[in-house]
Amino acid sequence: MDPVTLDIGAMSRFAAKFSKGRPDTDDCWTWTGGKSSDGYGTFWDGERVVGSHRFAFAAMVGPIPEGMCVLHKCDNPPCVRPDHLFLGTHAVNMADKVAKGRANGLKGQDNPAAKLTDAEVLAIIELRREGATQAAVAVAFEIDQTVVSSILLGKRWSHLGVADPSLAGYAKGERVKGAKLNPDSVRQIHLMSENGAGPVAIGRVMGVSESAIRRVLKGECWSHVSRGDRS
Ligand SMILES: [Zn+2]
Repeated sequence: MDPVTLDIGAMSRFAAKFSKGRPDTDDCWTWTGGKSSDGYGTFWDGERVVGSHRFAFAAMVGPIPEGMCVLHKCDNPPCVRPDHLFLGTHAVNMADKVAKGRANGLKGQDNPAAKLTDAEVLAIIELRREGATQAAVAVAFEIDQTVVSSILLGKRWSHLGVADPSLAGYAKGERVKGAKLNPDSVRQIHLMSENGAGPVAIGRVMGVSESAIRRVLKGECWSHVSRGDRS
């Protein structure tokens, strides 16, 4: 399993790509961005394409130990609600999938030439638009990089009408590291805190000091930014 990279730019993009359920309910938080063929959200964290549920866990619960999977209590692959997610080993993950009737391989299709679903092609375009490198997308979807560029150029899957040749160049791979706080990141700090993350963990994620996080949470700075009202 790939590690997840957290930075403010990625956190802000992530926060805009799911819808919370009704307040004070146990509703799932549904990923609204691109999805893989098996329904898991796909997200560009700035370094690689990761499952959005994995990013959600890393951002709002805590680090994912190496080799561990993030599983859903709610059995809803696009859900990114932190308290619906839990850690399990690969073996637990497979047993969980069997128990829930989802024991198929990730792709579930035999024909390599047609192994991308329409949903995946849309996800690829979206990831690229957000800055994912062609190489990272190719790795994530287990396809050759030339397939990625042929999708972007509209040489394949052109019937979807989503080709964008301007995306066929190479990404600069810019990342926002150590950036100062902004309204999006402040909302993210409150969201993480509401979900149980401590100031030390939040500070590490956001690349600012623990004391800065404490000041934000106490309302000593950035108090003009309303908390957690995106949905
Ligand atoms: Zn859920």
